[in-house]
Amino acid sequence: MTTKPSPETMALARRAAEAVDADRVVQLAQGLVRVRSVYDRALGTTEAAAARYVADQLRASGFEPAVEEAAPGRPNVIADFEGSRFDASLHRTLMFEGHTDVVTEGDPSVWSIPPFEGRIDLGPDGLETSGVLHGRGSADMKAGVAAAIAAVEAVRDVAPDLPGRIRLGIVADEEGMMLGIKSFIANGWADEVTGAIVCEPEENEICLFQKGAMRLHVRVYGAMSHGAMPYAGVSPLRGVADMVVALRDYEKREQERIGEHQYLGWPWITPTIIQAPAKGEAQHNVVPDEAYLALDISTAPGQDHDTIEAEINRIARSLEAATPRLRFEVECFESRPWTATNPNDPLVAAVEAVYPEVLGTEPRYGGVPGATDGTFLWALKDIPIVTIGPGDRTIPHQVNEFVRLEDVVRSARLYAATAILYLRAS
Ligand SMILES: [Zn+2]
Repeated sequence: MTTKPSPETMALARRAAEAVDADRVVQLAQGLVRVRSVYDRALGTTEAAAARYVADQLRASGFEPAVEEAAPGRPNVIADFEGSRFDASLHRTLMFEGHTDVVTEGDPSVWSIPPFEGRIDLGPDGLETSGVLHGRGSADMKAGVAAAIAAVEAVRDVAPDLPGRIRLGIVADEEGMMLGIKSFIANGWADEVTGAIVCEPEENEICLFQKGAMRLHVRVYGAMSHGAMPYAGVSPLRGVADMVVALRDYEKREQERIGEHQYLGWPWITPTIIQAPAKGEAQHNVVPDEAYLALDISTAPGQDHDTIEAEINRIARSLEAATPRLRFEVECFESRPWTATNPNDPLVAAVEAVYPEVLGTEPRYGGVPGATDGTFLWALKDIPIVTIGPGDRTIPHQVNEFVRLEDVVRSARLYAATAILYLRAS
C-alpha cells in the first residue's frame, strides 16, 4: 500500500514539473531528429551518432554518462542522477527508458517535409514550444528521450538532496532485436532499478499492459508432382491451407477463452506470408515439394507462449497423421511475453497522483499494442514498468511522422513530478 504523498512532497513535485525547461525539451527533440539513426546493415548506418548526441548533451549538462556498445557500432548511453541523500541500500532507483534508433524513412520523396530536417511549425502563439516537430523518430521516440533528459535536469535542479536515484537508459536497437536493452540488463544496469518509465509514444496515457508477440516459421514438406497428376505427389499447399484454417479455429478458441482485454483488445494468430514453392521458380503445372508459412502472433494476459507453440505443433502432428508423406516443421524464432504491471505498485501510484496536476485531467489509461524494451525489463528482471510518453500511438513508422511539442513538454513535466513522488516515498 502506498500512503498519500505529503503536501510538502506534492509541492516539490509541482516545482519539479514547473522547472522543466520547455525550450530545452524542444532543442533536444529537434537536435535528435536531425541525426539520422536508422540501422541499415547495407548502408552501414547505425544509431551511433544519435547516441553520441545524447552523451554530449548529458556531459555538457554535468552528467557523466557511460557509453557501452550493445553490438559493434551500436552504443547504449546510461547516466545517473543520485540525490545527495541517496543510499543504495535504502532508496529506490527510477529508470527512464528510451531508444535512439528509428525505423527507415522509406522513400523520402513521399514525405511532405524532409524526414531529417527537424522542421518545427510554430504554434498559434508563434512559439516553438506549442508547435509541431516533424520527422522520422520525432514521436518514436526522440521526443520521449528529450522529455526524459529534461525531466532529470529539472529534478536535479529542484531536489539535489533527493533520497533516490534516476537512471537514464537510452539504448540501441529497440526496433530490431532489442539488443540494447538486453545488453543493458546483461551488464547489470537493471539490477538496482525498482521501477521504470518507458517513454514510448502513448498519447500520454498510463499503460500498465503491453501485448506479447511470437514469430514463427512453418515449413511444410510434401512431394513434387505434375499439376495434372497431383495423386502422384503430396501438395504442401494443401498442408498450408489446412494449417491456416486450423489456426483460425485456434485463434477463435483463444479469443473465446480469454476474452477481449480492456486495453489490449483481442489476441491474434495472423498468417503474414504464404510462399510456394518455398524457394526457386514457381511453375503453373508443377506441385512444389515445399511451402512456407509465416505467423505473427499477438498475445495478451492469460496466454502462455509455450502452450501456444505446443498447440501449433499438435495441429501439425494431426495434419501429418491425416496425410501420408506430409511433414511440418514449426520454429518459433522470437518470443516477447506480454506484460502486466501491478496497478498497486508505488510507481503507478506516483504517476496517477501527479497526472491531474500536470495534465489537468483525471488519469487516462491505455495499452501498448506491441512489445517495447520494457518487455524485457519486466520479463527478465521483474521490474514494474509504466509505458507513457508523447506522440500519437499509431504515428510510429508512418510517413510524415510528427509530434506536438506541447505534449512532449507535458511528458517531461509528468516524468519530473513522478520522480519526486516515487523517490521521496521510499
Ligand atoms: Zn519506439
